[in-house]
Parts: sequence; structure tokens; C-alpha cells
Amino acid sequence: MNAYDTVRMHDVMRPLGYAASDTPEDADLVILNTCHIREKAEEKVYSDLGRIRDLKKERGGEMLIAVGGCVGQAEGEEIIRRAPYVDMVMGSHSYHQLPEMVTKAIRGQGGIVELDFPPEPKFDYLPDATSQGASAFLSVQEGCDKFCTFCVVPYTRGAEYSRKVSAILEEAKRLVDQGTMDIMLLGQNVNAYHGEGADGRSWSLADLMAELSKMDGLKRIRYITSHPRDMTQDLIDIHGEEKIMPYLHLPIQSGSNSVLKRMNRKHTTDLYLDILSRLRKVRPDIAFTSDFIVGFPGETDAEFEETMELVRQVNYAAAYSFKYSPRPGTPAATDENQVPEEVKKLRLARLQALLQEQQMAFNAATVGKTFEVLFDRDGKLEGQLLGKSPYMQSVHISSQNAEIRNQIAKVRITGGYLNSLAGEIVVPNVLTLGTRYATL
Ligand code: SAH
Ligand code: SF4
Repeated sequence: MNAYDTVRMHDVMRPLGYAASDTPEDADLVILNTCHIREKAEEKVYSDLGRIRDLKKERGGEMLIAVGGCVGQAEGEEIIRRAPYVDMVMGSHSYHQLPEMVTKAIRGQGGIVELDFPPEPKFDYLPDATSQGASAFLSVQEGCDKFCTFCVVPYTRGAEYSRKVSAILEEAKRLVDQGTMDIMLLGQNVNAYHGEGADGRSWSLADLMAELSKMDGLKRIRYITSHPRDMTQDLIDIHGEEKIMPYLHLPIQSGSNSVLKRMNRKHTTDLYLDILSRLRKVRPDIAFTSDFIVGFPGETDAEFEETMELVRQVNYAAAYSFKYSPRPGTPAATDENQVPEEVKKLRLARLQALLQEQQMAFNAATVGKTFEVLFDRDGKLEGQLLGKSPYMQSVHISSQNAEIRNQIAKVRITGGYLNSLAGEIVVPNVLTLGTRYATL
């Protein structure tokens, strides 16, 4: 559930002779890297564990099972109690200890639980990051101090922490040297980034991106996830830079100021809309996505309608929307005014219908346009290549273009669907060839 941490777990285990496996069936060690943000995600862990237990049985017990990430952090011993066949449970900050835990488990000491937050952030204990291909994640910040009343992140991921600028630049350089062109900077609160620079100064996310922009070979930079309160003017301005992609995921959660207040978001819809309009000034083609929660405790019909109105006003390229899910230990979970499940369901269906309509319209509007796509994955069909548009849309092209795997190519969009675009490579025209010849 956390792609970056999963890649880093591979990095930790590789020196011990482990390699990534495509399926759990032939794995000696299965690690579930979990998410605790909504109840559904947590329940999924136990149903996945049930399936993996059957595989372990089939192999006569010759398989180690580990649970990591936020569910590990929050549930700890409880996991071993509910699923005694689990060999190891580690928290969101302990996976650098995997080798030690695996060694113990191989010796037959199962039921190992490691939930400590190390004195120094875990990044300091990890081996160098290895290749992730043309597109890569790079974690720059962890944890959160904002305590939105619905959210478990401050409890499961700990206090806000920013990595040092030098460590991030080194990791970026290493990735670029291995072929990465597109980097997604990650953090639970990425735009609250304030890492120590070599100059002793505290760098903002905008400072960091400006420095990364200078890196040869790195073509595209994005960041996720941001909080509206930390969208400072320097960060807005940097969106005018060529390498910063015209895409921003900026969750608002609700379009109602009274709900935002009860969520402890500490900003209004006016501030949010003002940020978007300042961004559009700097980068007119920027695409926005967001997260929404419906049925937050006490949410009235009128408050929900305000969310619908905000969505109409913004016109999103895409968005995630969820029913409010009470999380243990968070203030909203014990609120007496819980919204009935039926009401949440209806509201979610209405919101998702509107968001899908906007997403479809956004994708359809790109048909006939030409833009650069980074082809970093194989598609589902034989020979198909999948890439990302500057606006984070998935673009697929047919088989005849294998040479552009892991390259950026100019693509004319020929089809716009709800979840993807179809395109064809633009063949360099005679004029371009002529110009190149003349230069030679
Ligand atoms: N830091 C980001 C959000 C990270 S959590 C921010 O401040 O916006 C990712 C998303 O999960 C949130 O944006 C929210 O929409 C959703 N989420 C978090 N807790 C939730 C809960 N208790 N119920 C439903 N959705 C929740
Ligand atoms: Fe959770 Fe994001 Fe709020 Fe932090 S800012 S508490 S991560 S929703």
C-alpha cells in the first residue's frame, strides 16, 4: 500500500540474497505492506493473510509471513493473536530491521514484533536506493503534526520529519543515473517539507524542486500529498518552471466551511479556491485532483451540497472520494452524530457520478491534442505500452513502438476514456528532419 516503502524493503533484503517475486506462490518471504487509513484497508489485511496462510500450509510451513506498515504499527501483538501463523510484525519505521527479524524467524523464533520509532529517522539506516525505472518515487518527508480529527496518520506514522536536502539530492542523482526521468516526491504532508540544506538554512519544497530542476536527465517533477495550508507563494510560483508537471493533487475533503472546521483543517474553501486560481495564473493548463470524505460526523444535507457545489466550481481532472470511516483513537470516531451508512452511500454515489463526469470530460477534451508521454510500463495487451501524460493520465499505444519504452515521446491523442487515453506516436515531419540536417 506504500510503493516507495515497498521498493526500499526490496533494497534492504537484496544483500541477503532475496529477489522480488511476481506472485506469493513461489515466495520464501511474503511481506504485506499495509495501510490503516480506512477500516476497509485494515480488514483487507486479514483477508489477504487468510489466503497467504493457505499457501504457507501448501508448502508445509516453508514460508515466512511479515506484516509491515501502518496496520503493523497500530495493531502490533493483536495481529499475532488473530493470525498466529504470522512470523513478524513491524511498524512503519522498523523495516530497516527486516534482516535481523528474518534471521531470528528462520531460527524458529516466530511472533517477532518490532514497533519502535528509531532515534534517527529510518532513512539513515537504509542501503542506497536502487533503480525503479523511468518513473520513480522519492520520499522527502514523513509523518504529520496536523491532527485532522478523522485521520490516523499522526498516530501511525509519527511526527513530521523532513529528510536532509543532501540525502534527497544524492538519491535523486542515483535514480537519474540509473535511467529515471520522472520523480514523484512523496510525503504525508509533502509541502510542509523543511529540510536542512548544506548551507545550514531550512529549505522549502519549492527550494528543493528548484534545485532538482537543474539536474540533467531529470525531466519531470511532481509531489504528493499536499495540504492547502502549506501552499506557500514560492511553491505556487515554481509551477511556472518547465520541469514541474502541470498537475497537482490538493485534497480539500469537504466543500463546507463548517465541516472543514470540525475536521480541524484550519482553512476555508475561499483560501482553497484562491490557491487554485493563483496556480492557474502561473500555469494555465494545470490539472487538479483532490480527496473527499462524505458523511463526516454531523454532515448535513446542506453541507454535503456545498461539497457538490465546490466540485462544480473547480472542475477536477480526477479525484478520490470516500465514505467517512471512524478510526480508533481519532476524535471524530467518538462523535455522537455519526451519519447513517445509507446516507453516506447515497452521498458518495452522487459525488462520484459528478466526479466521473468531470474526469470523462477532461480526458475527452485531450483528443486531437499532442503532448509528451513517458512510456514507463507494459500495457495489459500483448506489446502494448503504457505511459503517463503531463496531466497524470494513463496513455496507451500499440505494439509497433517498442523502441520508445522508458522514453518520452510526442503522442497525438486519438481516444479519451474514463480511465485512460489512446494515442499514436507523432512521426517527425520533413521540416524537422530538414532542420536537423541543416544544423549538422
Ligand atoms: N495528508 C493528506 C491526506 C492523507 S490520507 C491530506 O491532508 O489531505 C489520504 C486520504 O484518505 C485523505 O485525503 C482522506 O480523504 C482519506 N481519509 C483519511 N482518513 C479517513 C477516514 N477516517 N475516513 C475516510 N477517508 C479518510
Ligand atoms: Fe491526516 Fe493529512 Fe490531516 Fe495529516 S494533514 S492528519 S495526514 S489528513
